[in-house]
Amino acid sequence: MEFRDLKKQYKILKKDIDDSIQSVLQSASFISGKEVGILEEELSSYTQVKHCITCANGTDALSLILMALDINEKDAIFVPNFTFFASAEVISFQGATPIFVDVDERTFNIDIDSLERAIKKVISEGKLEPKIIIPVDLFGLCADYKRIQEIAKKYNLFVLEDCAQGFGSSINGKKACSFANAAITSFFPAKPLGCYGDGGAIFTNDDEMATKIRSLCVHGKGDNKYDNIRIGRNSRLDTIQAAILRVKLKAFIDYELEDVNKAANLYNNLLIDKVKKPIIKEGYLSSWAQYTIILKDKSQRENLSEYLKENGVPSMVYYPKSLSNQIVFKDIKEYVDLSISNSLCDKVLSLPIHPYIEEEEVKKVCDLVNSFIKRNKEEEKL
Ligand SMILES: *Cc1c(COP(=O)(O)O)cnc(C)c1O
Repeated sequence: MEFRDLKKQYKILKKDIDDSIQSVLQSASFISGKEVGILEEELSSYTQVKHCITCANGTDALSLILMALDINEKDAIFVPNFTFFASAEVISFQGATPIFVDVDERTFNIDIDSLERAIKKVISEGKLEPKIIIPVDLFGLCADYKRIQEIAKKYNLFVLEDCAQGFGSSINGKKACSFANAAITSFFPAKPLGCYGDGGAIFTNDDEMATKIRSLCVHGKGDNKYDNIRIGRNSRLDTIQAAILRVKLKAFIDYELEDVNKAANLYNNLLIDKVKKPIIKEGYLSSWAQYTIILKDKSQRENLSEYLKENGVPSMVYYPKSLSNQIVFKDIKEYVDLSISNSLCDKVLSLPIHPYIEEEEVKKVCDLVNSFIKRNKEEEKL
C-alpha cells in the first residue's frame, strides 16, 4: 500500500499528462510559456480570487508576500506552533520574529483564544509591532477565518492564509485561498494539488500587491526584465509544471476532491470511536492532505505505527517536533502556553489517504487500527 499513490494517479492521467509535456517540448517555451498564464487564470477562477501568480514553490510564495509588505526586524508575525517549518522559516528569513500560537486539539488549526492572548502580550510588551497572522489550513482543513478576521480587524493585522495543504477545501462553499488579504499554496507532489517537482502560487484580490509580487518574482522587474526597479528573486513555475498542473487540476475538480472525501468518510465510519479522529466542523469541507488520528501517548503511537508497518501499511508522523521545539527557534520567546501543540507531536499519526485509495485498503487500515486499540485496552485492564 502507498501512503499517497502518485504512481496510480499517473497511470490514470498518463495520456493527457504525456501529451501536455510533449506540447511544451515542441513549443520550447520552457519559462513563462502560455500554459503558465492559462493555469493562473484557471486557478483564479476556481478559487474566485482576482489574481493568481505562480512561483517556484510554496515557501517562496510566502516569502514573496512578506517581501511585498516590507516585513523586517521590528515586526511580529503570529503563526501556529504545529505546522510545517516553512510557515515560520520565512518570517525569520525576513528578520522578523515568529510568535508561536497554540492550536485546537481536534482541528489541528490555530487556536483563536491563544492567538488573541499572544497579540495582547506582544502589544503590552511594546518591543515588536504586530503585523501579520499566518493561519495554516493544516492537513487540508481551513482555519476558522470568521474569528480570525474579527481578531485581524480588532488589532489591524494583515492575514496571510498558508493553504499549502488545503487547496480545494472550503467553508460554506467558499474556496480556500480566498479567506485572507493574501494566500499561498504549494504544488509539491504530495500536496492535494501537486506537480512533478516544486511549484507554488500566490492569491490576492489586491491589484497593487499583485503587481508588486509579479515584479518580485522576476528580479524586481519594472517595464521589462531588464528594467529592475527593486531587489527581487527568480521565482517562477516552469511551463512543463504548469502544463502538468492543468491536467491534474481538471481531475482534481472532476473527481479527486470528491473521492478523497469518500475515503475520509469511510475512515470516519470504520474506525472505532476509541480512536480520536479528525473533526470537520459544520460547513467545512477538507481536501484531506492528511488523515490524522490522535493516540494516547508516544509509546502507543510508535507501537501502532510499527504494527501497521509489519502489516504492509505505511503511516507518517506530521509533525514530530513543534516549531518552538526546533533547535533554530530555541531563542525565540514564547508568549503563550504551547502545551497542546507540543503534546500533539507525540500523539499524532497520519494514515494513508489519497483520491485513488481503494475501499478495501481503507478497510484493511481500519481493521488493523481497531484491533490494535482493542488489544491495548484489554491489556490496560489486566
Ligand atoms: C509544504 C508546505 C509549505 C511549503 O511549500 P513548498 O512548496 O514545499 O515550499 C508551506 N507551508 C505548509 C503548511 C506546507 O505544508
